Amino acid sequence: QGPLPAADRAAMAEAAAASRPPADVDTDDCLREYRHLFSPDILAGQVAFITGGGSGIGFRIAEIFMRHGCRTVIASRNLQRVSEASKKLEAATGQQCLPLSIDVRQPQTIVAAVDEALKEFKRIDILVNGAAGNFLCPAAALSFNAFKTVIDIDTIGTFNTSKVLFEKYFRDHGGVIVNITATLSYRGQALQVHAGTAKAAIDAMTRHLAVEWGPNNIRVNSLAPGPITGTEGYRRLGGKFAEAASQFDMIPLQRAGNKTEIAHSTLYLASPLSSYVTGTTLVVDGGSWLTSANNFPALLGIASSSAK
Ligand code: NAP
Repeated sequence: QGPLPAADRAAMAEAAAASRPPADVDTDDCLREYRHLFSPDILAGQVAFITGGGSGIGFRIAEIFMRHGCRTVIASRNLQRVSEASKKLEAATGQQCLPLSIDVRQPQTIVAAVDEALKEFKRIDILVNGAAGNFLCPAAALSFNAFKTVIDIDTIGTFNTSKVLFEKYFRDHGGVIVNITATLSYRGQALQVHAGTAKAAIDAMTRHLAVEWGPNNIRVNSLAPGPITGTEGYRRLGGKFAEAASQFDMIPLQRAGNKTEIAHSTLYLASPLSSYVTGTTLVVDGGSWLTSANNFPALLGIASSSAK
């Protein structure tokens, strides 16, 4: 076989670009450079309320939304964290970002935050439920309270926030909800009964609310990330270990994902590009859950070393 004709080489390079990751930074800082793939004004004039928006995946979602014309509210328990994040986001994007303190387990804190956001912006178009807590732990060693806490934050927190937004704004104006879930329950990931159960319940909630709230012009979808670099989840749940042990070779796309990739997929679900998409879960994991080993002994090793 001789060398490929130039046109074929160009076509192959173009096809490879379709799975090439966009640039990212591992810290909770904004991207040093950004090339728009979507229309830069796709969210112009809109407002997004992002729980867990002060760190990790939520921070990058806020940044990418703002780079597409959106103003944001980023809300979590630690006011200092969201305040610092909002300064970075505003400086990098030139859009407004309102930092607020909420605990998604306490509906009255959500009500107060949504009232404040509506006072400031007069509208909320998008809700991203990103707040969550997770750690590795065998079911037998998990306290009753630890299991309950994860369900409280992830599942009940998602319901609380969705319900407050529905009552305060979405019922009368429509809206979009994106719930950040996970693939943990698809194959019963070891040491993750708490988070897997909590996220599976959110995927169910996505379908229920999509059905009930569709007539109000509210779209509700889940987005389930795989292992995502530069995040607390990656650090706590064995991402570094998997990387060192070359375990990502097992993933069909042969690598972990990055926060910008999750933010781009969230942008798709939040934007008019997905205007007829509701009640579904978009898995953004490079095919990971299909092929990755459910490596019980390795995970136990990571869990015991991170507990020290
Ligand atoms: P992260 O930075 O720890 O994000 C979690 C956020 O939730 C934090 O900003 C935290 O802020 C907030 N939060 C926690 N408890 C809260 C509460 N009770 N009320 C309000 N906010 C609360 O972790 P991440 O890894 O980027 O994860 C973001 C989302 O992606 C999560 O839903 C996670 O389950 C999902 N996910 C991540 C991965 C991954 O590889 N990283 C994979 C699959 C799914 P405060 O501490 O200030 O409250």
